[in-house]
Amino acid sequence: MNPRMVYSAHGAAKQVTGSCHLVTCGDTRVLIDCGLFQGGNNHHDLNFDPFGFDPASIDVLLLTHAHLDHCGRIPRLVRQGFRGRILATAATRDLARIVLLDAAGLQEEDAARAERSGQRRGEHAGEPLFTLDDAFHSFDYFDTPVAYGQTVVVGAGVTAKFLDAGHILGSASILLTLEDRGQTRTVLFSGDVGNHDRPILRDPTPAPAADYVVMETTYGNRPHRSLPDSVDELYRAIRETFARGGNVVIPSFALERAQEILYYLHRGAVEGQLPEHMHVFLDSPMAISATDIFRRHPECFDASFLAQLREGDPFAAPDLRFTRDTSQSMSINRIEGGAVILAGSGMCTGGRVRHHLKHNLWRERSSVVFVGYAAEGTLARRIVDGARAVRIFGEDIQVRAQIWTINGFSAHADQGGLLNWLGDAPRRKVFLVHGEYERGMAAMTEQLTRKGIPSQIPGMHESILLA
Ligand code: ZN
Repeated sequence: MNPRMVYSAHGAAKQVTGSCHLVTCGDTRVLIDCGLFQGGNNHHDLNFDPFGFDPASIDVLLLTHAHLDHCGRIPRLVRQGFRGRILATAATRDLARIVLLDAAGLQEEDAARAERSGQRRGEHAGEPLFTLDDAFHSFDYFDTPVAYGQTVVVGAGVTAKFLDAGHILGSASILLTLEDRGQTRTVLFSGDVGNHDRPILRDPTPAPAADYVVMETTYGNRPHRSLPDSVDELYRAIRETFARGGNVVIPSFALERAQEILYYLHRGAVEGQLPEHMHVFLDSPMAISATDIFRRHPECFDASFLAQLREGDPFAAPDLRFTRDTSQSMSINRIEGGAVILAGSGMCTGGRVRHHLKHNLWRERSSVVFVGYAAEGTLARRIVDGARAVRIFGEDIQVRAQIWTINGFSAHADQGGLLNWLGDAPRRKVFLVHGEYERGMAAMTEQLTRKGIPSQIPGMHESILLA
């Protein structure tokens, strides 16, 4: 009888977000990630679509990391019947908790707003994708945390090994070993692959031998600027903006990026590259909580960061203020110059950063510094692409501030980094996911063809036999 091993993508198929992959081996059904689709309105609808499989039939969910586009549909999965185990590293479990609670709060707010404004679309008008109760319920299914390098039995015929992906705190690539009817196959899920030589985290573990690799291609089409150049540019943006009396707004992802920027602000001040009188605001309750979680997971840090921790707090920029309360956040709006404001969301699709943009975008003296990925259809992307005016809270705001786009801070490996991570080991096939179809995926297909590695771009819900 033929072995029964099948792979299918139920998100991040020919697109960047919504990572969700199903592997069936005999009677065991394993999900790898269950992420949210993010971006424009049709992405919103995709989140309400059926998963493409029965959530109740899944035995185990393996979570690569805590970014919303990898974990954001978990509460919905549980709401629709998932009762299996969720396996993740300890740091991913802690971070996923705050990410999902934050997302649930936003879902409830969005639904209430849609209800109020009467924008009823389809049958899910006014219904949140999931609620706070759903998020709390989903925490019941997180099992004992998995350590890097540890091999865990996932189910009959399936084991998994988590490898450090160097992308965000706790992030992992996951190697699955499948056995059915005398045949063994290995499948490696890259998760999101990070960069070498970054502060805080270790370098990504290179891809081990595996028959199949399911690889992200977020930056599959281009190189990043070097990190030292990017740090210099950040310092220059702050110095120039302060010299003309403005503020620097940094829309920032709450996980990793915010902590990395805090680290560089601290270092810049210590090295004398940044002004002494610099008010730094971390204006994001989630980023504040995430920074606390960072401090609790030294097992994820690289050696040099551990050494710096022993000397003091490497996140503590001079005059750093954590603003959790809304009233504290609003008082920042009265500051006209000399402040660095880190706030979420990174793509400006929600969160407090939109208030800071409203108060600073129209001011020539201020700067907005983008240090992260901006997906198509987001406010961040419109500003990065050079919009002269943008609509925020129903008001047209002129864009007169200086706009900086510094892409070297990316937590994602660039094209060269991904190819290095993959290495030259023979593969039966590499499946390309989690990228812009016409850009990252197309460029990576070309690169792999040149190296003689067979590749395929899976379609949404397409079942592929792992022969
Ligand atoms: Zn990620």
